[in-house]
Amino acid sequence: MARRRDHQDELVFLPLGGVGEIGMNVYLYGLGPEHRRKWLMVDLGVTFPDFREPGVDLVLPDLRFIEEERANLAGILLTHAHEDHFGAVAEMWPRLGAPIYGTRFTMAMLKEKLKETPWRAEMELHEILLGARLNIGPFDVELVDMAHSIPDTSGVFIRSGVGTVFHSADWKLDPHPGAGRPTDEAKLKQFGDEGVDVLVCDSTNILSQGHTVSEKTVAASLGEIIRRATGRVAITSFASSVGRLLNIAKATDAAGRSLVLAGRSMHRTVELARETGLWPEHLKVHDEDDFQNLPRDNVVALLTGSQGEARAALARVSEQQHPRVSLTRGDLVIFSARAIPGNEHAIIGIQNRLADMGVEIMTEWDGGPIHTSGHPRQQEVLKLYEWLRPKTLVPMHGEPRHLETHVAFARAHGLDAVSPVRDGTVVRLLPGDAQIVDDAPVGRIYRDGQLLVPYEDEAVRERRKSSFAGCVVVSVVMDKKGEFVADPAISLIGVPQLAANGDSFFDVAQTAAIGAIASIPRPRRKSVELSSEAVRKSVRSAINLAWGKKPIVRVLLSVVK
Ligand SMILES: [Zn+2]
Ligand SMILES: [Zn+2]
Repeated sequence: MARRRDHQDELVFLPLGGVGEIGMNVYLYGLGPEHRRKWLMVDLGVTFPDFREPGVDLVLPDLRFIEEERANLAGILLTHAHEDHFGAVAEMWPRLGAPIYGTRFTMAMLKEKLKETPWRAEMELHEILLGARLNIGPFDVELVDMAHSIPDTSGVFIRSGVGTVFHSADWKLDPHPGAGRPTDEAKLKQFGDEGVDVLVCDSTNILSQGHTVSEKTVAASLGEIIRRATGRVAITSFASSVGRLLNIAKATDAAGRSLVLAGRSMHRTVELARETGLWPEHLKVHDEDDFQNLPRDNVVALLTGSQGEARAALARVSEQQHPRVSLTRGDLVIFSARAIPGNEHAIIGIQNRLADMGVEIMTEWDGGPIHTSGHPRQQEVLKLYEWLRPKTLVPMHGEPRHLETHVAFARAHGLDAVSPVRDGTVVRLLPGDAQIVDDAPVGRIYRDGQLLVPYEDEAVRERRKSSFAGCVVVSVVMDKKGEFVADPAISLIGVPQLAANGDSFFDVAQTAAIGAIASIPRPRRKSVELSSEAVRKSVRSAINLAWGKKPIVRVLLSVVK
């Protein structure tokens, strides 16, 4: 029988970010016949630039696919308030214009972020109850509590005429997540009984066997360290990890110490946690102004900057530049967070500066569990398989290695799995067997100062290149006859002054520029293009000969009338 795909309802999955990378999660579900689909966006996150993207402030997803389909975008559902899941909403919303849905803490964090955006008043924001079932356009979605490192994280069960999908969001199994609710096992089992066709699942920790350590174990370990400490204790962690902060506040209280918050985002999280009822009133916090007035053996300070961020509290304390918080010999700094790959250098720099000050340092490698992940290891993933009994796995939230390991893991446990799914892959989930059917344009957008620029833009590439080999600017001025009006002017940026033989690179460049022009017959020198290119090549190769590196060479050639 001929297939009539054009008329048949389908449920498709299309990641615009987050599949092939850890960060910048943007997942689309499309429902309807191929050319008349309605879309649901799950999450709209950012990622952070690495050393190959010098000067870039933030990396945002390229949404051109859904921007063109914006009339068919029914809504944006946010699973939780981590930057890699909701950080792009404020900047990208005007391109989409769709209503936004999220649970209590997620929406509180979002509203805080939106305060400065001029389009805040136009945005339709829906705060939904934990575990609620609602319709977003044609999508019948039901939320499920999932334990994670931030409260109110929700998995999403999607029911449709062609079958069901469970989108796990970021999750783990932890009966004591510190703040917020644990993963709702009973509800997941109910979905399993009802029937789950496809599981779209977090792959972050699929390379690790066993089970994630509970937040409660971390709390006990931190509590013991605080209790035994004699000097000041400073702890740095992700400011959004409400459960961790809350456990630290309880341990501080139990040890008879006072908790000081340093860093804007710590204050903001605690304020929002109070407003949303997650933070008990009796747990008091002090402003950093109180720090110096508290006895050394009475203080625990929570500092921002666990990733080595240069302007955050911890970096400034380590440089002895913080206006109110300072540490001295015998104090202790606990790194209650794991380094996100790429940040190790900055973190080690801070640790070395603290060590120079005589401050004791404790990281997760120094004995007891003082940090735990918010993502499931293999045993937890297996539990989820067991509860949901899905037919097919589609891996998400992982780099290629995590995704393909997850695929193999699922197959080894009797599931079908779709591979290779990456950002831009269109997977038809239902009806029938899930398979890759198409691809869509994806990419990255850089926030560069006040601008948003596509990642294909030359600027960042040139910045990276010039950071390795510098830049040479050559200005050549000629008259109409093709004679030099003056010697070419040279400007060297990031190029050494002298070559090994003592020649100055200024002279090397100038001689090469003069030679290049001299080698061109006079009548042809008037071609600005030809002459500039000859000068560029000649200067570049002369410098390469003397230095062994090829700088960017820019030629400004003018002909005087
Ligand atoms: Zn995430
Ligand atoms: Zn997360």
